[in-house]
Amino acid sequence: MCKDEEIIKKNLEFYYFYAYYDKIIMGVYMKSIYSMTIQDLETFLEEYNEKKYRASQIMDWLYIKRVNTFMEMTNLSNSLIELLNNNFYFDKMDIIKEQNSTDVSKYLIKLYDDNLIEAVLMNHDYGNSLCISTQVGCNMGCAFCESGRLKKVRNLESSELVLQIMKVEEKIKDRISHVVVMGIGEPFDNYDNLIKFIEIINYNKGINLGSRHITVSTCGIVPKIKEFMKLPFQVNLAISLHAPNNDIRNKLMPINKAYDINLLMKTIKEYLENGGRRVTFEYIMLENINDSIDNAKELAKLIRNMNCYVNLIPYNETENIGFKRSSKDRIMAFYDTLKKEKINVTIRREFGGNIDAACGQLRSKENIWEHFI
Ligand code: SAH
Repeated sequence: MCKDEEIIKKNLEFYYFYAYYDKIIMGVYMKSIYSMTIQDLETFLEEYNEKKYRASQIMDWLYIKRVNTFMEMTNLSNSLIELLNNNFYFDKMDIIKEQNSTDVSKYLIKLYDDNLIEAVLMNHDYGNSLCISTQVGCNMGCAFCESGRLKKVRNLESSELVLQIMKVEEKIKDRISHVVVMGIGEPFDNYDNLIKFIEIINYNKGINLGSRHITVSTCGIVPKIKEFMKLPFQVNLAISLHAPNNDIRNKLMPINKAYDINLLMKTIKEYLENGGRRVTFEYIMLENINDSIDNAKELAKLIRNMNCYVNLIPYNETENIGFKRSSKDRIMAFYDTLKKEKINVTIRREFGGNIDAACGQLRSKENIWEHFI
């Protein structure tokens, strides 16, 4: 199938849901306006002999003034408005439920095709940080993770990543200052849309989120880390490591069978040598699985001399999965061992445990949401 056929097929699926067949039948191929980077818009405008500078005006209407029709873009000519109307749509996406506790809010979001995702807002002293989802479900199959129990249904479009930020900002009437791509899904399994999303939110006359305020978390898809390191952005990279050796990691994370821990470490070293910013290793503390003093020593040896730090995550137990959270004593002993080994380490402040907003638990309890909907 050639590229154009693929695009049309994808859009046909889209329009099937929206029941806009008429536009497709008339041969019009439409895109979400929120999936356009400034360069995409400029190229589009030039193709239609419109002035390039109109692109930044459109971005201003979308992301600063936040209108949601082209009609409202009053400094554009009628013919340009018509051109935009004929080529782009505004996505349909709604927050249908929210749950709040003191420092965290969880949003249940309905997509155009009725699939549900979630985003979680954490209020830090340095600002509002939003954890967003990248896929409906996830195919990585990590043994401890709830998201993986719901197999991947589809990737989110870049517009659907952008809109998670915009919808939450609209709700809280405040700005999101930090984004962590750590919700449902594996971001590097939706790589192209992820990168487009980063370009869009990074654009300085739009949402203007500095790349240092964006963190992408991956379970370790090595070829994508290699692509990622070639990009010009200074986006933070977090690696879900969760084990100090292949034996343990193979049991917890199937991805380790494709890209094992040695290859992963070699790749992270390359990433750092190529100017990558300090890497975070996430390490869930699972009782008697990966939390012994020997495990801590082995971890220290594995990452010694790397520009990194370890974030120890108290495991959020879920009723569907048998793993237990390490006791406070074991977490502290692990932490002290890493400190003694001169490894930078923190213990993650816990957010959202009481509202199932903790990472990996997003959406899995959607049946609990049902009686709210
Ligand atoms: N797929 C990406 C991002 C989503 S998972 C990744 O693997 O990094 C986000 C983080 O939450 C990962 O570190 C994941 O391992 C962790 N996580 C999953 N289930 C969890 C749970 N029950 N308690 C604590 N952390 C969990």
